[in-house]
Amino acid sequence: MKVFIACLGTETNTFVPFPTGRRNFEESGVFHGDVTKHTPNLFSAPMHVWRRRAEERGWRVIESLYAFAQPAGVTVRSVYEGYRDEILADLKKALPIDIVLLSMHGAMVADGYDDCEGDLLGRVREIAGARAVIGGELDLHCHITRAMLANADALVTFKEYPHIDTAERAEELFTLCADAAEGKTRPVMAAYDCRMVGMYRTPVEPMKSFVARMKALEAKDGILSVSLGHGFPWGDVAEVGTQALVVADGDRTKAQDVARQLGQELFAMRDSTLVKYWQPDDAIADAESAPADKPVVLADVADNAGGGSPSDSTFLLEALLQRGFKGALVGLLWDPVAFQIAEEAGEGATLEMRIGGKCGPISGNPVDLRVTVKKLAWDCQQTFGPTRNGTGNLAWLQADGIDIVINTKRTQIFHPDAFAPLGLDPTRYRLIVVKSSQHFYAGFAPIAARVLYVTTRGGIEPDFASIRHTKRSVPYWPRVADPFAGQNI
Ligand SMILES: [Zn+2]
Repeated sequence: MKVFIACLGTETNTFVPFPTGRRNFEESGVFHGDVTKHTPNLFSAPMHVWRRRAEERGWRVIESLYAFAQPAGVTVRSVYEGYRDEILADLKKALPIDIVLLSMHGAMVADGYDDCEGDLLGRVREIAGARAVIGGELDLHCHITRAMLANADALVTFKEYPHIDTAERAEELFTLCADAAEGKTRPVMAAYDCRMVGMYRTPVEPMKSFVARMKALEAKDGILSVSLGHGFPWGDVAEVGTQALVVADGDRTKAQDVARQLGQELFAMRDSTLVKYWQPDDAIADAESAPADKPVVLADVADNAGGGSPSDSTFLLEALLQRGFKGALVGLLWDPVAFQIAEEAGEGATLEMRIGGKCGPISGNPVDLRVTVKKLAWDCQQTFGPTRNGTGNLAWLQADGIDIVINTKRTQIFHPDAFAPLGLDPTRYRLIVVKSSQHFYAGFAPIAARVLYVTTRGGIEPDFASIRHTKRSVPYWPRVADPFAGQNI
């Protein structure tokens, strides 16, 4: 057997004003056939798993491109086409091929391509031929499209948000595709449109039990795999929204039935999936009244770089300053210009500095402060699950009783160890602001007295009814209360 592996992806927020270009991919690391010789990250981890599994069986592995960009706006057309065509050229050279395994996000949009993954899978199918088994692993914040379903044999999404199961799902996809290539199974897929647009946190109920239920349905009664594509709300594409996805062994009707059943279960509990969002002042007041032994963690959900937001908004920082709150830690705030100034001034310097607010109205106003540069660190990393991820250079700035950590590589914060290169101990603060929607949770919840999800303006405001979708024609909750009303579902 010959197995071809590659990764191309990003999560495209079609509403933010900065494009995803080559630099954005390169900042996250682009590898032309050797990413599995390097430390795994969220989207290269599947390629490591696939190589190991194939080599254990004595199968030959052909490794192509790894290119994954931090989420931002629409991908520059030539950049998408360039990476895509590199994968396709490698695939042509590798023919004949038995199995193609692709690590993708599932919500990548490029100029001229609303469905990059569907486009890539279609071209891969054309080259690899009808007999090749084609599998894709997707982030659960994906748009599951007809083109993707038509051209892949098996698609598997992460089940957990935070995405702690990327390697586990890669194992699952490998088994699925290897069994199919050996003729043991014949995977067929069906998806069910839940007519919902939202975000669902899987460590807490009711989603925790829903994930357990998905797992319980697998590997019996002819069901090979069950996924829930949560969808990525900030993509203006026709198939935006939540979909249940089932892979069955040869029986498409069974796949459809299970997908519909699960989708309807989720729809029935839609109201209980909603998260309470706090207003900044209320959240800060809550932290003020909390006992000081453990920090209250405020998630600045609307400014999560992982959803394509700039990560330099100042709404929460301004609210803290206005209330005169002392003992807060804010980070990571993306501001390469401020870092350059801090670096030039040096540790110990006190100076006037303009911080954040640089990417338009979604960033808020820049904040002018007299800061002390407490410490600098270069080429830093943070933990996310089993992986280490770059944060760039860091500066710890102190002003008015608030410690602000700025960084040079736009990324959300995943873990308290992001602050370690500066010698900061997050547990000694009364309040921590993290620019992340949910991935921070696994790392920060254990040190937090409470976790509060706070909403402000930003690149990914969690007001799902108000997102300006123009391409989806089918109604969805919460824009309408019951999108199935009057229809036979
Ligand atoms: Zn995701």
